[in-house]
Amino acid sequence: MGLKEELRKSFPILGRKVNNRPLVYLDNAATTQKPAEVIDRISRYYREENSNIHRGAHFLSNMATEAYEKARNSIQSFINAGSPAEIIFTRGTTESINLVAHSFAEKYLKKGDEVVISEMEHHSNIVPWQIVCERHKARLRIIPLTASGELDLDEFGNMLGKKTKIIAVTHVSNALGTVNPVREITGIAHKLDIPVLIDGAQATPHMKVDVREIDCDFYCFSGHKMYGPMGTGVLYGKEEWLREMPPYQSGGEMIKEVSFEKTTFNELPFKFEAGTPNVADVLGLEAAATFITELGYKEIASHEDALLEYAKEKLAGIDKLRLIASPREQSSVISFIFEDIHPYDTGILLDKMGIAVRTGHHCAQPLMDHLGVPGTVRASFAIYNTMEEADILVNALIKIREMLA
Ligand code: PMP
Repeated sequence: MGLKEELRKSFPILGRKVNNRPLVYLDNAATTQKPAEVIDRISRYYREENSNIHRGAHFLSNMATEAYEKARNSIQSFINAGSPAEIIFTRGTTESINLVAHSFAEKYLKKGDEVVISEMEHHSNIVPWQIVCERHKARLRIIPLTASGELDLDEFGNMLGKKTKIIAVTHVSNALGTVNPVREITGIAHKLDIPVLIDGAQATPHMKVDVREIDCDFYCFSGHKMYGPMGTGVLYGKEEWLREMPPYQSGGEMIKEVSFEKTTFNELPFKFEAGTPNVADVLGLEAAATFITELGYKEIASHEDALLEYAKEKLAGIDKLRLIASPREQSSVISFIFEDIHPYDTGILLDKMGIAVRTGHHCAQPLMDHLGVPGTVRASFAIYNTMEEADILVNALIKIREMLA
């Protein structure tokens, strides 16, 4: 199988019990657990290196600045960006998308323009666009889904035109696991010179992301979903866009010179990083990227794909259990419902057996409306999950079915 016991041992929390049962953690799409490498890196920073960066003349400040900028270089190579100036550290995907939505709209969005998103987006790739469209009197247009839970690319092509100013779609759906053809999407959009933002929150834990190969204009992801710390995220943006876009937040760090008459702004990427950054956690994020790179996406994908197929097959055999969506390409997420049991009840009973899943709308209420369900039960996998854990989930669901039937 390739999954080694030592790998699980690198994640201290996996050894704990929940409700007197060994923890079976299947809520990885919400957040992954952290390996010792990440926890130790953060701790080492506070024990040995802590200092504010970019402005101190002293030893520790220089050390912390160097470490922070080295982390930027590591993330640049992690997603194959062209330059460190294209890597903006944020608090997460949500902040990265808000940054682009507000800054881009301020410069480029006018009355009557259109922004295109899809029906499978997470709220954080819906609401910021809704807000800026309202503010600038622009229109939000929605790419519909096919019956199997994929983007309808014919409809997508038809809705683009002179009015379309930007397209924002997810790489991988957090609720369905659908992997979208992002390279094809940027190809279609760029024929009309329309920029594309990709929400990569659910992609970077599972697959190699090469922003230059995808040729997206913006790519957003969160550290905490890829074995890194909470409160970290990345916005990748092509320099040609970031240079033209106005600052999102303002204050220290992002300025070149300030007087009461006028302020000039710092160069990229600092123009978009106002205030003291989250240095410790950015170093933790770098450690997470190194952890993934050393493990290798090939190993990650082969393990997680096998796990997904195994679990899907077993779940499909359970009486009155319906799998939601059957996209051709799916990554590490299974959504399902019992026809006659509320998802929340299923989740609570699984928790009693030590199994952590997520239930509800998964911050994708428009998608739930489209599916005609109040919510789903979502099991999502990471590199440390095992076939035995999939069996524990399946057996627990069979028990719940028997109890509540
Ligand atoms: N987009 C998708 C597809 C997600 O799954 C999530 C997190 N659930 C987000 C955006 C938001 O990420 P964060 O909460 O880390 O900002």
